[in-house]
Amino acid sequence: MENQACLKCGGEMDEGTVSVSEGVNYISNRQTSMFKVVTPARRARVCLVCGYMELYLDAAELRKKIGK
Ligand SMILES: [Zn+2]
Repeated sequence: MENQACLKCGGEMDEGTVSVSEGVNYISNRQTSMFKVVTPARRARVCLVCGYMELYLDAAELRKKIGK
């Protein structure tokens, strides 16, 4: 992944992972109630200046769940 500066303050970003067992899970509003299976965030980047965090999930996995 490119080492892009923080979108909020321009600071240095640090890349890591998030825990899947206790981590952040995403459900798209496009998912119908029958298919509200969570997609876990698997990677994270954090700004070392302001603490802004970006989370990344498996986009292919999510597209399947929302029929894209
Ligand atoms: Zn920042």
